[in-house]
Amino acid sequence: MQLKDKVAIVTGSSLGIGKAIAKAFGREGAKVTVDYRSHPNEAKEAVEEIEKSGGRAIAVQADVSKPEDIKKLVGKTVEEFGRLDIMVNNAGIEEKKPFLETPLETWEKVIAVNLTGVWLCCQEAAKQMVSQGGGGRIINVSSIHEEITMPTNAPYCAAKGGLKMLMRTIAVELAPYGITVNNIGPGAIETPINQNLKENPDQMKQLLEEIPLGRIGQPEDVASVAVFLASDAASYVTGSTYFVDGGMMRQSGSL
Ligand code: NAD
Repeated sequence: MQLKDKVAIVTGSSLGIGKAIAKAFGREGAKVTVDYRSHPNEAKEAVEEIEKSGGRAIAVQADVSKPEDIKKLVGKTVEEFGRLDIMVNNAGIEEKKPFLETPLETWEKVIAVNLTGVWLCCQEAAKQMVSQGGGGRIINVSSIHEEITMPTNAPYCAAKGGLKMLMRTIAVELAPYGITVNNIGPGAIETPINQNLKENPDQMKQLLEEIPLGRIGQPEDVASVAVFLASDAASYVTGSTYFVDGGMMRQSGSL
């Protein structure tokens, strides 16, 4: 077991990639807080699945765009499990609209969850890790869109691009405390966020042509990299993004 007795929070882990990470951490022996915003039944199911495979877990309702909720999230975790070793900032949203038609409210909403929310979670988690001592791990679920564009999704791309420099900067600031900070940049992963792809075979075909490994990713493909980054095997790894994209970032199109 690579994470035996480590205590982890995974934000937005009632569904999708976050749920796969929470379950993988549970299987590796971690005690896990499943954070959810609006799906209590799914969060309960995630907790039950972790416990069925022998792990320990609790569910805590917390909206990552609200500072008071994040204090509650870290506070309840420490109250239940005694400390916090691993913070995974996974919660994210997107609202696609052409740039010229995007209202300020959309920009503010996406940035509040995908960038400010991660900043808040990193700070609250790092304060706890520094005060308890012994180092820690912060892992942000970013995207290939911290590097490459997606027209009609500027707020999302700006937030993920921001996560790149947030991660790099605080990796340096937190290194003296033994806290590592890394991003995972998924490519196209089969989750509810991109349900529309499944319903659009032409778009799916076009997408698969852009993925050198020729398949859409599964949440477990991301979870296994999260386990590595959270484990002792990654103790000398900080300040980097790990892309989990089937080679999508490297494809060269028809050239
Ligand atoms: P998803 O929509 O299935 O899950 C997102 C989770 O975040 C949900 O559980 C949702 O309830 C939660 N969430 C949203 N806003 C929240 C808030 N304010 N507070 C707390 N929780 C909140 O999406 P997913 O595909 O599993 O995405 C997870 C992460 O991976 C996101 O950050 C996303 O940007 C990133 N990502 C996904 C893909 C992909 O193809 N699926 C690709 C690149 C990056």
